[in-house]
Amino acid sequence: MTVEKNKSRLRLRVTAAAETQLRGGHPWVYGDSIREQNRDGAPGELAVIYDRKDAFLAVGLFDPQSPIRVRVLHAGKPQTIDAAWWSARLTQTLERRRDLFDKLTNGYRLINGESDGWPGSVLDRYDQTLVLKLYTAAWLPRFGEISDLIRAQLKPERLVLRLSRNIQAAARKNISAEDGQIIFGDPGSSAEACPTFLENGFRFEADVCHGQKTGFFLDQRENRRAVESLANGRSVLNAFSFSGGFSLYAARGGANSVTDLDISAHALASAKRNFALNQSNSSVARCRHEMLQADAFDWLGGNERRTFDLIVLDPPSFAKREAERSGAIRAYERLAGLGIQHLARDGILVACSCSAHVTAEEFFEAVRRSAGKSGRNFQEIQTTRHAPDHAATFKEAEYLKAIYLRFS
Ligand code: SAH
Repeated sequence: MTVEKNKSRLRLRVTAAAETQLRGGHPWVYGDSIREQNRDGAPGELAVIYDRKDAFLAVGLFDPQSPIRVRVLHAGKPQTIDAAWWSARLTQTLERRRDLFDKLTNGYRLINGESDGWPGSVLDRYDQTLVLKLYTAAWLPRFGEISDLIRAQLKPERLVLRLSRNIQAAARKNISAEDGQIIFGDPGSSAEACPTFLENGFRFEADVCHGQKTGFFLDQRENRRAVESLANGRSVLNAFSFSGGFSLYAARGGANSVTDLDISAHALASAKRNFALNQSNSSVARCRHEMLQADAFDWLGGNERRTFDLIVLDPPSFAKREAERSGAIRAYERLAGLGIQHLARDGILVACSCSAHVTAEEFFEAVRRSAGKSGRNFQEIQTTRHAPDHAATFKEAEYLKAIYLRFS
């Protein structure tokens, strides 16, 4: 690693509160909790944090432009962060996934950011295509080393780089890379058709170069499976359907009909292709598949009176910032209420939230309030949280939650 050559080590001291957080395993140090810094630091440089007694506390990636000034790589006893260290870290991360999936699933998350010790980065597998998504410029100086390591250990056919919007200009300047760039591997086959992968025996396409996240919502796999087990004989509305994931599982689970509702024509076109890819399953082939392009709030709240036996609500995040939290909670309550109006007798509501700023309890309470206001009797089937390949090890990393209610 050449990032910190010829310079004295970047050394920081932090507030007592930040020290406690670090000892508790929290992976972030905010700029305003830094008390002392021996010199300016460059993006991606290793910063070492010492405690009040000058003992090593943690080492992490420095990011002068971000309010999260240091993203911790390691805390506890001092360690040297060299090529062998990175290689061992990747091995440990992959080891955690070793027994999670069988041959019927080759699309899943290999690296889940901070929670796996790779702060601000994600690596998803779609069969032989890997997608590395970076959320902080602190990774850019290490990009060559990390992509070489991924190539050496995982031997994928193709590696695609995705960049969060806030670091795209820096990536262009510093590593001459664009969002969606194929770093290595055959671009031909992926340019005309998105790669496909397996999830619980389904074949799905993933728009790895341009799609949301890394091209597919791998985080909902377990909820989709739960919907499959509840769908038999039901008419299903999949609101905010994206590429039809929940609908395919419902179809295989014996649903009579599935309706994908999404505002995006692009998402619905992908859902159509995903249904075509899975016609060899007789339940999928038998199930009626309908697609509606509309705003889900407008459609559910409009003149349409149709009812369904199972409704999935999986909207995008309603709170991208803390300031949007209370508005988001109200929106979840309202959306659940609109969904319940379209539920037939004995209907099931599956309401999901991916807003990190809304806690699971806040969200569950919002949906329960809505259920209460509907005046109908309801029973709670279950609540769910993160999938095992998306495990969250600290509060800010927790975003996904779902609640399943059955209405009489
Ligand atoms: N349930 C999906 C993921 C949903 S992502 C899955 O399992 O893969 C959120 C989706 O909501 C996106 O496809 C987006 O196009 C759609 N969307 C965003 N705002 C919407 C709105 N107001 N009405 C309907 N769909 C919307």
